[in-house]
Amino acid sequence: MKSLKYLLTTVLVFGTVLSALALPPSKRTAPAKALRSTEEFAQVNPGEKLALVCKQCNTVTIQTITTKEEAMELCKVGVEITCPSCNKTFKIVRHGPSGKGGTHVETRIVNDKGDECMFVTKLPE
Ligand SMILES: [Zn+2]
Repeated sequence: MKSLKYLLTTVLVFGTVLSALALPPSKRTAPAKALRSTEEFAQVNPGEKLALVCKQCNTVTIQTITTKEEAMELCKVGVEITCPSCNKTFKIVRHGPSGKGGTHVETRIVNDKGDECMFVTKLPE
C-alpha cells in the first residue's frame, strides 16, 4: 500500500507542476489576426511566411511568399485552394457588401457550403 500512496503523491505533484506551467498567461501568444482584405495581402512582402489554417482538419500549412503576386493569389476571388492535409478544395469568395465600387475588398475562404473553413495569417518573424 505504501508504494501506491507514493505513486499517487507523485502524480499529484506532477499534475500541479503541469498546471502551473500552463498557467502564466503572459507567455501566451495573442491570437493571430487573419488576413482578409486585399490591402492586408498587399502588405505581405517576399520572404515573409504565411500560415494557411485549415479549420476543416485543424492543420496549419506554412507558405513562404516569394513574390507579391503569390500573396495576392490568396485574396483573388475565384481562386481555389486545396488543403494539402485533407485534400479538400476551398474557394476564395468576396465577402461583405458588393457593388459599392470601392477598392476595399474583403475575402473569405469557404467550402462548397459557403462556410469559412480556412484563413490566412502572417507568421511573426
Ligand atoms: Zn484541411
